[in-house]
Amino acid sequence: MRWGLIGASNIAAAHMMAAIRANGGEIVSVLSASPERARTYADEHGIPEGHSDLDALLAGDIDAVYISTTNEKHFAQAMAAIAAGKHVLCEKPLAMNVADAVTMVRAAADAGLAFGTNHHLRNAGSHIAIRDLIASGRIGDVLSARVMHAVYLPPHLQGWRIDNPAAGGGVIPDIVVHDADTVRFHLGEDPAEVVAMQTTSGMGQGVEDGVMSVWQMPSGATVMAHEAFTHRFAGTGLEIHGTKGSIRARGVMTQRPVGEVILTTEAGEEAIGFSDHNLYIRSIGLFVEACAGKGRPAADGVDGVKSLAVAAAVAEAARTGQRTAVDYGGI
Ligand code: NDP
Repeated sequence: MRWGLIGASNIAAAHMMAAIRANGGEIVSVLSASPERARTYADEHGIPEGHSDLDALLAGDIDAVYISTTNEKHFAQAMAAIAAGKHVLCEKPLAMNVADAVTMVRAAADAGLAFGTNHHLRNAGSHIAIRDLIASGRIGDVLSARVMHAVYLPPHLQGWRIDNPAAGGGVIPDIVVHDADTVRFHLGEDPAEVVAMQTTSGMGQGVEDGVMSVWQMPSGATVMAHEAFTHRFAGTGLEIHGTKGSIRARGVMTQRPVGEVILTTEAGEEAIGFSDHNLYIRSIGLFVEACAGKGRPAADGVDGVKSLAVAAAVAEAARTGQRTAVDYGGI
């Protein structure tokens, strides 16, 4: 498959180009707002074409685009790619608001194009093992979940994320979307209402750098989530507690195939094994198959809309101090 990269980004360089190539894909072109940066980035990464004009990139001989620009650009770029007949794998959050995300996802469906959201966590062997434990009834009925995703944002990512709300900065659009997607993946249901408080504690300038929220699930289960950019030593984790058992996973809210998963039941503690495959290679592999009409992306467009809807509700609840219903935009 022939790809155009929309966005000369860190994530493309750190993970996605290698994942595309590992799946036999050819990266034909890259877009940057700056012609010079487009050329430099293309040269550094062995990409034949560097563009600063989106129409020129879309006019090229490509089947799909991977969009990893800053968040405020995703909507217009996805709509242009869909209009040009390209399959779209888009970074999270899909857009700056739920209505735009719904428009993107419906446009791709109407055009018969594949649309994926790059939520990496549901591709992890650890999370697939956790989901399988829950689905096979090992912990009984789920009572609650706790998501620990307070990390330290490394200096090379402390750009627009910490000081530019117009580009989609802040920990809520950055990390809550991933946690919403992961919880939906595990519990198989969509949060209905949320309460939240946010903080700015040293890193964020005009945006929140920490948030805690509680989500009410339709089944009656409750979810507690904590995301931050400022916690150097907290480590990440996920716990899911049920009537017959508890799952405690440590170090699993990450881009790498690491961590541990422990199941505790009346029979005692059991360490759960899981595959250590690369998360992004799996994400691209399933997307490529979906483009060929086989199966669906690991996280599709509807998943991207829903994770954004939960994050938007968390932001609204934190702003108003009110219990807030999640509005999925009719999707
Ligand atoms: P970057 O800041 O690296 O890139 C975003 C844009 O910033 C680029 O398109 C580029 O635009 C510009 N830029 C990047 N580096 C430079 C530079 N050195 N000098 C000048 N301009 C630069 O963003 P990220 O890779 O961190 O994130 C991109 C998207 O991917 C976001 O939507 C984010 O939420 C998502 N993401 C997803 C992850 C996942 O695991 N699913 C992980 C990380 C990010 P231009 O060249 O046009 O100026």
